[in-house]
Amino acid sequence: MSCVKQKSAALPRRTDSQADFNAYETMEPRMPEATPGELKNGKRVKTNDVAPRGLYRPNDNFITPNMTSPEYVQISTAAAITLGIMNGKMYRCACTRCLNLLLTYPEGCRANCAYCGLARHREAERDFADRNFIRVDWPAVPMDEIIDTVAGDIDNSPFHRMCISMITHPRSDDDTVAVLKKWTSRIDPDAIPVSILSNPTTMKRQDVRNLRDLGADIFTVALDAATPELFDRTRGKGVQSPHKWKKYWEVLDDARDIFGPKKFGAHIIVGMGETEYEVLQLVQRLVDMGGHSHMFCFFPEQGSLMDHLPATPRDQWRRVQLARYLIDYRGVRTDQMSFDEHGRVSDFGISAPELDRIIDAGIAFRTSGCPGKFQDDISACDRPYGDSPPSNIASFPFQPNKKDLGKIRRQLNRQQTNDTSL
Ligand code: SF4
Repeated sequence: MSCVKQKSAALPRRTDSQADFNAYETMEPRMPEATPGELKNGKRVKTNDVAPRGLYRPNDNFITPNMTSPEYVQISTAAAITLGIMNGKMYRCACTRCLNLLLTYPEGCRANCAYCGLARHREAERDFADRNFIRVDWPAVPMDEIIDTVAGDIDNSPFHRMCISMITHPRSDDDTVAVLKKWTSRIDPDAIPVSILSNPTTMKRQDVRNLRDLGADIFTVALDAATPELFDRTRGKGVQSPHKWKKYWEVLDDARDIFGPKKFGAHIIVGMGETEYEVLQLVQRLVDMGGHSHMFCFFPEQGSLMDHLPATPRDQWRRVQLARYLIDYRGVRTDQMSFDEHGRVSDFGISAPELDRIIDAGIAFRTSGCPGKFQDDISACDRPYGDSPPSNIASFPFQPNKKDLGKIRRQLNRQQTNDTSL
């Protein structure tokens, strides 16, 4: 087995005839524009000072109310449909298994991550509570109302997990604690476990410990970028954003020490300019620490600083998705795999029949994230269509069927071998 490390900077620019991975040079974010002073820091919302009156639907021809956490949180459209507070249907999904909560403030997130619809540079264009995030609207709802609804019938709850997403805001640490306390005062965290999607930039080791002591089950760090260069380019100095790679790893180390094996992890976005080798080395590093990776396929978010860039080609995504599953759940290591001169996976390091069995099981291509109640390698957080349109699904929020698996095999350029015995 060979293992070729290819530096991103040496990769050729992607052209239409070579479009099977997103190269570093192609994935350059645009620079944020300056925001007029009178529109900074949520001033429009604070000046209008409209009192919130329960559920607020983003962009609903209503002046954005002055809502803040912990009294208010935003929830994903999928969670709002599942809770029954919004009408709608999701393609081939009856519900979501994860209740995703997002802290909310008129000032919004103070970071400027290039791929994110919530980023600060959008404050002139759209109030925080009206911004799209991972391709959908996030309605704002009183936290007490959410808890009343879930606590009303915990035994039959569709939710296998609740997750609090922090944003970069001076109140984020305290309000995450407040939201967690509100939840655990009414809902047994053994019945519906809680995950924290953290914001390391404002956190100290003691904050991580407090969240564990208050009943959080899993702690994740949204690393998102797979290399220090990409991190700086998309989340740090490159886009006038405050995040630092080193600080994120300090908090990941804290999470490993405090939450322990299998109870911490990192989010990674695939296709922002890293090589497959680089992102899989990161997956291996997390597994060697005792954690997991939760993976997203880059999809250009409307209004973000990367909205002009190509989504991750499906073949790149499928190779990384499959290899990540093998590393996270099947004990395969990157040094058993082979990579070509562009850092692409050329051999997954296991026999063809074994690989076929894993492809046909389909789980490798489902959405990755914190586990639910079905089994360890099936995520509660199914984020329906968060990283692709339903017409060309990247992460399957349900079990892929035979037709889906045929398409996945074509994307992997991999026909089934005849021998399926192990
Ligand atoms: S810190 Fe999180 S919410 Fe804020 S801009 Fe970055 S990715 Fe988006």
